[in-house]
Amino acid sequence: MSGVAPDELAEFTQRARQFLDANAKRLVTEFAAWGQGPDRIPLLEHADPEIEKQELTESRQWRQRVFDSGFGWLGGPVTYGGAGLSPVLDEVYRVLETEYDVPGRAFFGIARNMLAPAILDHGSESLKRKYLRPLFRGDLVACQLFSEPGAGSDLAGARTTARREGDGWLVNGQKVWTSYAHVAQVGELLARTDASAPKHHGLTMFVLDMDQPGIDVRPLRQMTGGAHFNEVFLDNVYVPDENRIGEPGIGWQVARTTLTSERGSVGSGESTLSAPLIQRLDGLISYLGKQDDPSARRALAEVLVADRTMRLLNEQSELRDHPGPLGSVAKLLFSRQLERVANTAAELLGDEFLADSGEWGTFAWTDFLLSAPGLRFAGGTDEIMLNILAEGVLGLPREPRGDTR
Ligand SMILES: Cc1cc2nc3c(=O)[nH]c(=O)nc-3n(C[C@H](O)[C@H](O)[C@H](O)COP(=O)(O)OP(=O)(O)OC[C@H]3O[C@@H](n4cnc5c(N)ncnc54)[C@H](O)[C@@H]3O)c2cc1C
Repeated sequence: MSGVAPDELAEFTQRARQFLDANAKRLVTEFAAWGQGPDRIPLLEHADPEIEKQELTESRQWRQRVFDSGFGWLGGPVTYGGAGLSPVLDEVYRVLETEYDVPGRAFFGIARNMLAPAILDHGSESLKRKYLRPLFRGDLVACQLFSEPGAGSDLAGARTTARREGDGWLVNGQKVWTSYAHVAQVGELLARTDASAPKHHGLTMFVLDMDQPGIDVRPLRQMTGGAHFNEVFLDNVYVPDENRIGEPGIGWQVARTTLTSERGSVGSGESTLSAPLIQRLDGLISYLGKQDDPSARRALAEVLVADRTMRLLNEQSELRDHPGPLGSVAKLLFSRQLERVANTAAELLGDEFLADSGEWGTFAWTDFLLSAPGLRFAGGTDEIMLNILAEGVLGLPREPRGDTR
């Protein structure tokens, strides 16, 4: 693998496997395990609150064990709790972990892949020392307070304000589509601090303590029936100035760091279980007796080829300090892969997909199909990714902007 000497990679893989073998069970392949255990195929997590609480506890305990054993932040600087190794090893470890029956990482994706890179690139020394270790260790769940009812693709149009007040700022406004806000201890908040500046220059980023008066988190129900994300109302919420990420007015630059990293991580499939998902599709084909069906075989081959392409791309991204446009490519490949898997399952299942016959592993795909389109939007829509690649990489003319400021 590029970026890591073969000896180092072999030694690391052996060490990681020893840790995983000692602490977790290997996943039985879905085909072998067909009909056993829960048949949920989670994409946008939305469990019953009690189950979610339990899952969060288990996930946190696992992440803490991983971190304390030295595998939690391999590419991070030692000063802030990392192992000081190549960031490629983080991807190697992540992929190895998908072969084991361990709690998922979804609760901690925003902490690790969005808030932490923003603090690392733009935060003060004290913010780095205070937050990076707990964010990577799973001590803190983070949410991303960016989107607003009138500011999604046009994120720089955000209207939530932060006004100077003593040693800090008072925040007022509304955020929307905030994943995990209902379980988060901290939020990465984009707020307008200078209404007179052009819109991209009047924004500032903060780390917001979510457990304080004035924050009202209300669940939003999606078409699966679950509530993965929330509306967040902010009414005179205090944030100390020491929680500012970067100088006042550079919030847009900080947001770009976060979004680039977010796209890379969404694209890496980190929020889902890519290997088990493919095994589940493979298991479905076998269960339906379609192993020799040419269209099922072709569909599975396309999924496998796309998966391999995505893995190679992710290795390239991990090698760079900033994934740049690769993050947008990865995100596009990923949302298309989800669509491909969901549509393949739907076609294979036919009417078993529409009504719950009680057969294990069949109707469960409906939730996945209804969640997959959400990933075309999360982290910036596919159309926005295409615009970024067209303008920033191919040098095509910029599309006309509706705004003048
Ligand atoms: C599952 C999920 C999780 C999310 N989690 C979070 C979160 O935790 N925190 C957070 O802040 N936000 C979150 N979001 C919000 C997400 O970032 C926004 O949905 C996204 O940026 C799009 O914004 P919008 O929904 O306002 O759509 P709009 O911006 O209104 O776009 C509507 C449509 O118009 C298209 N469009 C808009 N502008 C252009 C253009 N210039 N060129 C071409 N087409 C265009 C879009 O592609 C889209 O199809 C989440 C969304 C989803 C679906």
